[in-house]
Amino acid sequence: MGTRYKFTCQCGYRATVAGDYDIGDKGTTATIACRTCKRLYDVQLPVPFPHPPDSAINLKPEGCPKGLNHVWRVWTYPGPCPRCGATVKLGEMLALWD
Ligand SMILES: [Zn+2]
Ligand SMILES: [Zn+2]
Repeated sequence: MGTRYKFTCQCGYRATVAGDYDIGDKGTTATIACRTCKRLYDVQLPVPFPHPPDSAINLKPEGCPKGLNHVWRVWTYPGPCPRCGATVKLGEMLALWD
C-alpha cells in the first residue's frame, strides 16, 4: 500500500507516482498523465475502490490538480512520457506511507 515509483525518461522527465491504481489508508488514487501540464500526477478517486478491481478503469478521477479544463487521461506503467511520448523507465521503488 502507498507504494510510489520513480519513473524516468530519456528526455529528462522524472516523476514519482504510483503508476497504477493504488489503494491506501487515505483512499484510492490513480495516476494520470496531463497533456496540458505535460506531467504525471497521482489523483484521488472520488469513490471507494470497486470490486472487482477491473472495473476501476471505469472510474473517473477528479482530473488534473492544476486545472479543471486540462486534458488528461489515466496512465499506467508502462506508458508514454507526458512530455515526449517515449516509454518511461521504471526506477526505484519508494514506500511513502507505512
Ligand atoms: Zn494539468
Ligand atoms: Zn520524455
